[in-house]
Amino acid sequence: METTLLLKAYLKKLRLPTVGRDFPKIAEEAVKTNLPYDRYLLALLEQEVLQREENALKMRLKRANFPVLKTLETFDFGASASLNKQKVLQLAEGRWIQAAENVILVGNSGVGKTHIAVALGIAACRKECSVRFFPLAKLVTLLLEAQAQHALSRMERQLERVDLLILDELGYVPFSKTGAELIFGIIASRYERRSVLVTTNMEFSLWPEVFAGERMTAALVDRLTHKSHILSMSGESYRFKQSHQKILGIPATNGSNPVDSLRAADILAPSAGA
Ligand code: ADP
Ligand code: MG
Repeated sequence: METTLLLKAYLKKLRLPTVGRDFPKIAEEAVKTNLPYDRYLLALLEQEVLQREENALKMRLKRANFPVLKTLETFDFGASASLNKQKVLQLAEGRWIQAAENVILVGNSGVGKTHIAVALGIAACRKECSVRFFPLAKLVTLLLEAQAQHALSRMERQLERVDLLILDELGYVPFSKTGAELIFGIIASRYERRSVLVTTNMEFSLWPEVFAGERMTAALVDRLTHKSHILSMSGESYRFKQSHQKILGIPATNGSNPVDSLRAADILAPSAGA
């Protein structure tokens, strides 16, 4: 009894809560199975390490602030003809983040840009990287607020430390000059030091409209695209495809798209008869 109390006190002091929780149960099993002392210790420490890794992953996912938790497992590459699956799987390995490279996902609305951005972010969390996800317009608002409260440099320092910064939806809504300058500052400070992932529905030639002016946009695009992986995701909107399938009475599937095969059959049938 006294042993148990002392053990609990020491384990608490040493911050080994999982060992503290599991040692009576694992000790009982060890007696039953004649487990050697070192194997008993190993089993206990393994539990502690696994629990810590799980807690750390949960914390990284929480801090990343993803809008949804979507992974590559639920992404239907068959429905996204233009996206290079091998390239995405390779990016999920995370070496681009170690090399401080960038990823730019370009494509129209509904093609899965946010889905892939989140999935790569989650993959990065699994590789023990720190990640922050922002809809770009939201980050601009937060930076402007921080500036008004004289807390800008603190926020900038916090963002600088993050391994991967995900900026979602660089779109048609232009920023104020100050907003554009703040975003430029964030991206410039990460150049060749830390990774940025940007999703956008606009080709680079249209970016000056968003970033208030040619010169700053040119400098920004320069920094962002140097050492970057640009993935094109153009195609039909996945949302649109799914609602289209519902209208046609075809159940949505995760495999090949029945709407596509229907069209292919329609097109092929007459020529096959001719
Ligand atoms: P975007 O950011 O390009 O506008 P989203 O990532 O928001 O598009 O995708 C819209 C919805 O369709 C989301 O629910 C997303 O999970 C889903 N989606 C898009 N493309 C795919 C796909 N190829 N496989 C599975 N789900 C997809
Ligand atoms: Mg999106």
